[in-house]
Amino acid sequence: MGGVAPMKTVSGLAIARGFVSGPVFIYRGDGEIPVPEYVVEAGREEAELARLKSTIARIRGDLEKLIAALRERTGRSDIRVFECHLMILEDEVLMTEIEGYIKELHLNAEAAVRKAMGNARTLFGKMHDLYFRERVRDIDDVERRLLKKLTGIDRRPHLELKSPAIVVADDLTPSETVQLPREFVLGFATNKGSTTSHVALLARALAIPAVAGLGDITAQVTPGERILLDGTNGAITLNPDAATVAHFEALVRRQKELDDASQLGAPAGTLKDGGEILIYANTHPGIPVAGLKELGARGVGLYRSEYLWLDREFEPSEEEQFQAYKAAAELSGRLGEGATVTIRALDIGGDKTMRGISTKEANPFLGNRSIRYLLSQPATFRTQLRAILRASAFGRVRIMYPMVSCVEELRESARILDAVRRELDAAGVAYDRNVPVGAMIEVPSAAIIADEMAELVDFFSIGTNDLVQYTMAADRGNDAVAHLYQPLHPAIIRLVRHTVAAAKAKGIHVSVCGESASDPVVGLYWAALGVDTLSMSATFIPSMARLLARLTRADLDAYAQVPDALPRGATAQEIFDACRRWLVAKVPDLEETIG
Ligand code: PEP
Ligand code: MG
Repeated sequence: MGGVAPMKTVSGLAIARGFVSGPVFIYRGDGEIPVPEYVVEAGREEAELARLKSTIARIRGDLEKLIAALRERTGRSDIRVFECHLMILEDEVLMTEIEGYIKELHLNAEAAVRKAMGNARTLFGKMHDLYFRERVRDIDDVERRLLKKLTGIDRRPHLELKSPAIVVADDLTPSETVQLPREFVLGFATNKGSTTSHVALLARALAIPAVAGLGDITAQVTPGERILLDGTNGAITLNPDAATVAHFEALVRRQKELDDASQLGAPAGTLKDGGEILIYANTHPGIPVAGLKELGARGVGLYRSEYLWLDREFEPSEEEQFQAYKAAAELSGRLGEGATVTIRALDIGGDKTMRGISTKEANPFLGNRSIRYLLSQPATFRTQLRAILRASAFGRVRIMYPMVSCVEELRESARILDAVRRELDAAGVAYDRNVPVGAMIEVPSAAIIADEMAELVDFFSIGTNDLVQYTMAADRGNDAVAHLYQPLHPAIIRLVRHTVAAAKAKGIHVSVCGESASDPVVGLYWAALGVDTLSMSATFIPSMARLLARLTRADLDAYAQVPDALPRGATAQEIFDACRRWLVAKVPDLEETIG
């Protein structure tokens, strides 16, 4: 007789706080397409060849339509990926090889495609030239297209999630994450991932509890089994006993109380002495905005517009963008006096890709991304700026440029923005003539010349997610270098101090919108250094508000000095520990306060 399986707790990284229990949904991604391999009956080879040829013709038709539509809609030349796919389909050597397998080895079309594509992959993979090695990915794509059509199998795993569940996956790309039906996602649990991976950002923005880095959790759970997910401490409990469930339910109830900003008695960010650090929310298109006010957000410090582009074959039109930005702009009115919504221009590239038209680069994180990409695609840039400016007629909007690394980028962007303003003027379209324009400070070069940058913009927002990654040369999503990825590294502190000083000297507003803004120890340190606004995923707003309510400006000034009191050469960890000790001495019930 099988007994009840014992209770088991698996620990991982706490990437989005909160507690939730629910059934497991195992997300397996697109996965391998199962390919039937058989020998076709004698005399059926011609029919098999005809099946192959008609499939190829259909795919060519699809690709040609896609390319034409892309040309028309975006006027872009960046459709090389699909043109390359067409060339592969038209490659005589490859096609003759596939046909040969069908005619001579009597293989079915799927098996013949797999065999010939496998040979091509091996050949290209061995080439010295990076360009040819990169073509392996295109061969993979074409093979997938062929096999999907031949087998009729086109898995869309996200569509299988049809009722509320905890999504358990190996890892989730931003594109996969955005496809999941949000109303059914209770929590995320992944084998891989890190605190700044995009599943973490999304989970926090949606206030969905999440745990990453769980090793092989996908192999330990079975679909449908109920598990407890603790995103605050980073743990999953399988087969919980009754006492554990009761304790967990109490935690769920307490979290609900803590997350109610109306309990604070003053606007979020108000200090004990009446001073204030503004607390804003990070959000993006597709996130329900209804809850932001309840959580205490006083504005939006980062609206990640690129979510309109993710996992799409076409760029969003000006109208589609306008509708999204207008909804965001209108939110400013609801969030209260002086609230602004900061729309960041398209931050595409790195791990944020658009299906099909993103070019393949050897080093995408150092490549043609974000503001660089926009400046290289002026039509895309102008369309976005038009949509944002039009939305500014409906609420207080700010425009922010991502990944700025030199003054030329700001000057060139200003020229394009001016041209767009003139276009709108000529057409008599209403917009706010005083929309503030800001730069993200997330590349070390920008922080180092912050004084020069400050001359060219109305505000700064420090993106510590990338600033830490680029300063430390440590991938923000790679567990193996997570020990180097520390926002309180002395180099980062110097860059932030310098940026804040440059902003103050020029009298412009400075915020931090990287994830570190929400960390009680680190975010508070940025506030102590003088940043005006901390912008964070909505889920963290209540705890930061409670913490600030316990401190005065004089406390923050004292806190700013903590690293200075350490011996020269203190490590990032030592600085963090000293700050934490100071904080615990000041707020002895810290854990209780932040919840
Ligand atoms: C950052 O880099 O800190 C940031 C806020 O931008 P993103 O996380 O979208 O790269
Ligand atoms: Mg960034």
